[in-house]
Amino acid sequence: MSKPALTILLAAPRGFCAGVDRAIQIVELALERFGPPIYVRHEIVHNRTVVESLEAKGAVFVEELDEVPADAHVVFSAHGVPKSVPADARQRGLAYLDATCPLVSKVHVEAERLHAQDMHLIMIGHAGHPEVVGTMGQLPEGAITLVEKVEDVAALAVPDPEKLGFITQTTLSVDDTAGIVAALTARFPAIQAPHKEDICYATTNRQAAVKAIAPQCDALIVIGAPNSSNSVRLVEVGARAGVAKALRIQHAGELDWSLMEGVHRVGITAGASAPESLVEELIEAFRRRYAVTVEQVTVTEERVQFKVPRALIA
Ligand code: SF4
Repeated sequence: MSKPALTILLAAPRGFCAGVDRAIQIVELALERFGPPIYVRHEIVHNRTVVESLEAKGAVFVEELDEVPADAHVVFSAHGVPKSVPADARQRGLAYLDATCPLVSKVHVEAERLHAQDMHLIMIGHAGHPEVVGTMGQLPEGAITLVEKVEDVAALAVPDPEKLGFITQTTLSVDDTAGIVAALTARFPAIQAPHKEDICYATTNRQAAVKAIAPQCDALIVIGAPNSSNSVRLVEVGARAGVAKALRIQHAGELDWSLMEGVHRVGITAGASAPESLVEELIEAFRRRYAVTVEQVTVTEERVQFKVPRALIA
C-alpha cells in the first residue's frame, strides 16, 4: 500500500542558538583541558539529549555548589547565576567557568546600570526560571520586582514612578512582552526601556519563523524540553497564529501519531536548546509512515557566534 502524502514545513532558523552552542563548547573544552569530572551547576541548557551526551563524556550535573567536591572545576549554565553563586564558589575554593550566554550577561549589566542610577527595576519574566533567578540575583533583594503578565501591572507598587526602569527575560514571547511593556508605559510614562531589546535574536527569529509557516500548517511540532522557556513560547506563538494542533515533544518517540490523523502539512521547529539531530530523527519517523516532501521556510540567516572564555583556549 502506498504511503499517504505529507508536506513538512521546516522553520528556519530553528534549534541551537549561539549561546547554547558556546555553553556546550565550554563544557566540552573543560573536559578536554582539565579531564573529567567537570561539574555543571544546573542543566547546562534545557535539553536531556545534550545533558546525557555530556554526562557520557564525564560531566556531572548538580543543582547546588555544596554537591561539588573541593578543588573541582564547575561550570555555570547558560541561563546565568545570581551574584551569590560565584562568590560562594570562590569561598569554597572552586575553579569556575561561566557559561552564561553573553546576551543574558548584557541584561545583567543593564540591571546594574539602571540600579546605579537609583532606579527601581521591573523585570518581565517567568517566576522560578533560572535566568530570572540569576538576573534578579544581580542586585540586592527588593531592587527588582517581577512582572509575569499584563494584569500584574495594575497591582504594581513602586517606590518612585519617576525612577523606574524595566528589563526582560531573553526568551519571552515577543508579542506578550510588547503588551506588558505597553501597560507599563501607560501606567508609568517615565519608565526607562533597555538600551537594546532584551529578548534575544534567537528567540525573535524562531518565533518569526513559526509565524511564517503557521498559516500553511495543519499541525506544528516544536522539539524542546518542558522547562525550555523559548520552546514553550514557540508552541504558544503557533497556536496564536492559528495552527489547530500546536504541540511540543522532546523527541520523535514522544509523538502521539493519532494526533497526525487528517494532517497534510506539518510545521516543524526546535527550541534554542534542541540539537538538529532530534529534528532529523523526527523527519525520519514521518518518512516511515508518509511520502514526505520537505520544504524549508527561512525568514533570516543567523551568523551570530560567541567566543569561549580565554582560559579554555590559551
Ligand atoms: S536563547 Fe538567546 S539568550 Fe538564551 S542562550 Fe540562546 S542566544 Fe543566549
